[in-house]
Amino acid sequence: MRKKIVAGNWKMNKTAEEAKALLSEVINMVKDEVTGDVEVVLCPPALYLASARQYVTAGGKVSLGAQNCHEKASGAYTGEISAPMLQSIGVDYVIIGHSERRQYFEETNEQLAEKVNSALESGLKPIFCCGESRDLRENGDYIGFVKDQITEGLFHLSSESFANVVIAYEPIWAIGTGLTASSGQAQDMHFELRQHIAGQYGDSVAQDTTILYGGSANAQNAAELFSQPDVDGGLIGGASLKARDFLTVVKAAQ
Ligand code: PEP
Repeated sequence: MRKKIVAGNWKMNKTAEEAKALLSEVINMVKDEVTGDVEVVLCPPALYLASARQYVTAGGKVSLGAQNCHEKASGAYTGEISAPMLQSIGVDYVIIGHSERRQYFEETNEQLAEKVNSALESGLKPIFCCGESRDLRENGDYIGFVKDQITEGLFHLSSESFANVVIAYEPIWAIGTGLTASSGQAQDMHFELRQHIAGQYGDSVAQDTTILYGGSANAQNAAELFSQPDVDGGLIGGASLKARDFLTVVKAAQ
């Protein structure tokens, strides 16, 4: 049985005080209100991960994720943070290949494959992002493009390693734009990706792979999106910055 997950990507938002307040609000709400089987992954800016660890109880419903890691374990890479460093402060997940990193930091599938390796070697679970641009959705083979992202970023892994990967389908045209993929569009892509995974690793691995949807998912549309059979939760940006909105999204996944 695959896991339902709702991850909150705070991106580059919140001061230390604000982050602390949001974190404790979300954790208390999860404790009081979430009864079903859904894992909540909070991904604050890296600066706050170490202090966040003390609020987030390991083994509970809430886990911690980083928004990125470097592909090398250590070295002369000023300003960067490695997967072993994240692991050493108790981080559980790491988002890899978010479209903003692909776009603004020119991350390639080849580099992302190395980041995935580094994360897995350190015992972190990668949340591997994929998704097509609006132009590709309207004019090109967008399904093939997203499948290629998965092939190039992940298919070098053994099936044992792949079992620790979460996939997030995030159409770029829906991220931060208020334009959500319809539940049908999300389901169609998630189904295609699951078939693609089955082709590489077999049906049982594919059925166990958690595939999240991301792109303007919010308190209003989450229930409809998560009702689709191949949508196993969400990677949530804007709506993760308000505790009540985020909780509504989390509860829609249980
Ligand atoms: C994201 O950044 O992963 C995301 C899905 O953002 P938003 O929910 O704001 O579209």
